[in-house]
Amino acid sequence: MTVLLARHDVLLLDLDGVVYVGPDPVPHAVAALTGAHARGLRTAFVTNNAARPAAQVAEHLRSFGLEVSAADVVTSAQAAAREVLRLLGPGARVLAVGGPGVGVALEDEGLVPVGSAADAPAAVVMGFGPEVGWGRLAEAAYAVGAGALLVATNLDTSIPTPRGIAPGNGTLVSAVVAATGHDPDVVAGKPWPPLLLASIERTGATHPLVVGDRLDTDIEAGHRAGIDTLLVLTGVCGVDELLDADPARRPTYVAADLRALSLEADLLVPGAAGAAPDGLQPLRVACARAWTGTTVLQQERAELTAAVAAALRA
Ligand SMILES: [Mg+2]
Repeated sequence: MTVLLARHDVLLLDLDGVVYVGPDPVPHAVAALTGAHARGLRTAFVTNNAARPAAQVAEHLRSFGLEVSAADVVTSAQAAAREVLRLLGPGARVLAVGGPGVGVALEDEGLVPVGSAADAPAAVVMGFGPEVGWGRLAEAAYAVGAGALLVATNLDTSIPTPRGIAPGNGTLVSAVVAATGHDPDVVAGKPWPPLLLASIERTGATHPLVVGDRLDTDIEAGHRAGIDTLLVLTGVCGVDELLDADPARRPTYVAADLRALSLEADLLVPGAAGAAPDGLQPLRVACARAWTGTTVLQQERAELTAAVAAALRA
């Protein structure tokens, strides 16, 4: 019998929907991570969000009482900068389009952020920033039209805000793609591998576990990078999406929240023979059935959704 946290050396944790939701910590997340740290497990906080510099994300996490330094946070802007460095070498000029996190990440890798296509950048790195307007998008289009590589920190189409769903970085990149007819040359963020690979390189992980709340970013990224995944149900993914998931988006382990780190790993696997003491065994059994082609009817889905809500409240 091995608990999940004993099977891995580093957790590659998604943030929104796993550790926090907006400004607030996810219930049980801080205690579970503090307990995991005490047992020697290391964590990297891996985020597609490129707008905030790593130091600012670390400060947010420390406000919950977590022991986190900026070096424990890996952003898609950092992974994008690392890819540009690999492709173009140090000192390359890069047009940065996005929030402060993008320019900081480029400078940290020894690249030179520039403000205009007239500065002849060799690459354009597009990350989200709420101030990005037509003028910046036009500069990006001019640079790409002149032959610069188009690098996207991520292609997330939407971002949650307190007032609802807003356009994400993917929509900004789409504007440049539509104008130039040039698809991104590199995408750093999940589900593409560079962000996870940068996190593994930084931590020296040998048995990492990806932990996320989204099948189409976190879990698919784990598949593409060949890393085991834990889906937690504290974020956007619900029962229907999980049951109906394509093979490339099916997690290794399914749990309500991060308390699962202390549960027996084998019992968290969909289709496991025994029952974990979290009330989600019916969901894991239903996943195994659904993923082998059996239809799960509406009433059972409603019961499973209620079971998830009860497990989260427990
Ligand atoms: Mg998330």
